[in-house]
Amino acid sequence: MSTRPALILVICLVAAFGAAFLVQQQREGYRDTPVLPGQKWHVHDPDRPYPHEVVPGENGAPPSDAEVLYDGHDLSKWTQSPKDSGDQVPAKWNLRDGYFEPNPGTGDLYTRDAYGDCQLHVEWQEPEGIVGRGQGRGNSGVFLQSRYEVQVLDSYRAATYADGQAGAIYGQWPPLVNPMRKPGEWQTYDIVFTSPKFDGDKLVEPAYETVFFNGVLIHNHQKLNGPTGHAEIPPYVPYDGTGRLRLQDHQSTRPVRYRNIWIRRLKDYDQPEK
Ligand code: MG
Repeated sequence: MSTRPALILVICLVAAFGAAFLVQQQREGYRDTPVLPGQKWHVHDPDRPYPHEVVPGENGAPPSDAEVLYDGHDLSKWTQSPKDSGDQVPAKWNLRDGYFEPNPGTGDLYTRDAYGDCQLHVEWQEPEGIVGRGQGRGNSGVFLQSRYEVQVLDSYRAATYADGQAGAIYGQWPPLVNPMRKPGEWQTYDIVFTSPKFDGDKLVEPAYETVFFNGVLIHNHQKLNGPTGHAEIPPYVPYDGTGRLRLQDHQSTRPVRYRNIWIRRLKDYDQPEK
């Protein structure tokens, strides 16, 4: 074959592959359908961006787009400093073999970063042989934005007030059911948190929480009255809608244990592709 026919053959092949690629890239859909209420997209809109691909984790392991806050090794993502400004003091809670626990009296533990709307996964365990009554049985807590507590406590056949048992949005809402495992077994919280919205000093939207406890739904897009309080109903105080995650040091003599903590920021995925 001479050079010229070979060149033509190559051009034809490239064009054919290119056309096939373009056909493959064409999106199925319609542009003559109604626009969805409150959205800018037509029903079955071919221009609507595809969701990002995320590789899921197995058995509670973090998915590919999660920020891992504790993976069994160190507390570098955490601090003892309650204030956002100034130097952040390194975590003083005790690292054990694959988990960590409060160092009673050192105070609550905070993430170094702040989060807005998020999905949070936390695993915790009450140690075997736990003692005490009511709010004294391994009390700790997961505070979203340092303000809103999902209670951590031994509530396996152990009684306290309903809005203070494990899984309660403390002081506001008991869990819908009690799926707690025995002390000595690991428990999981999967929490979807929606920040409150403010317009100046005015509350526009309250915070909401959806919580799964050991895979069981215990709060279904529950509206929060405001920040957590003990024996009171604190009002919302305007802030920027972000805050650091906080774990409570309730100074229990048999401290609760934490492991496998990860978080996903729930940014708006429905943006035009770049
Ligand atoms: Mg607590």
